[in-house]
Amino acid sequence: TDVQELLLSRIRDVADYPEPGVMFKDITPLLADPAAFTVLTDSLAQVAERTGATKVVGLEARGFILGAPVAVRAGLGFIPVRKAGKLPGATLSQAYDLEYGSAEIEVHAEDLGAEDRILVVDDVLATGGTAEASIQLIRRAGAEVAGLAVLMELGFLGGRDRLAPALAGAPLEAL
Ligand code: 5GP
Repeated sequence: TDVQELLLSRIRDVADYPEPGVMFKDITPLLADPAAFTVLTDSLAQVAERTGATKVVGLEARGFILGAPVAVRAGLGFIPVRKAGKLPGATLSQAYDLEYGSAEIEVHAEDLGAEDRILVVDDVLATGGTAEASIQLIRRAGAEVAGLAVLMELGFLGGRDRLAPALAGAPLEAL
């Protein structure tokens, strides 16, 4: 579609970043273009409305840049899922494996409750490890997962298949 072509045209491929052999998808040209950023925000907000989400969770750090305007556009609250050690209040933590080592993400437990249906927003779905951990965190906090919405899915990394059990039928939308 025209929207997809506009969005794709504003994503820059950066070879060998952050390490040799990786082709990094850089979204900063898209953020710098007001027409493209608005289309992206509106498209993700439509997903929020379609899925009946009551709040948006954004994944540090680019998920904050996209998730916050989506929440405002859709009239929903925004909840940051942060890397371990950054949130001042009582948190729930979820560890997950990386290619080398592991990582941990956290959320303020009191921001999520049984009445919430959460749309998770991030820029890029790669292996799915980060999204999977965030879904586990949301469920452990007692909330429901309305879906996962990303700008771009790197299909060859198999994130969609990995996430299927965690999503349990909730939609994964990649623009
Ligand atoms: P995953 O956990 O799915 O392997 O990695 C996804 C996370 O890493 C996301 O939070 C995303 O922001 C980041 N990421 C991985 N690869 C890329 C990429 O090529 N471009 C961008 N912008 N982010 C990436």
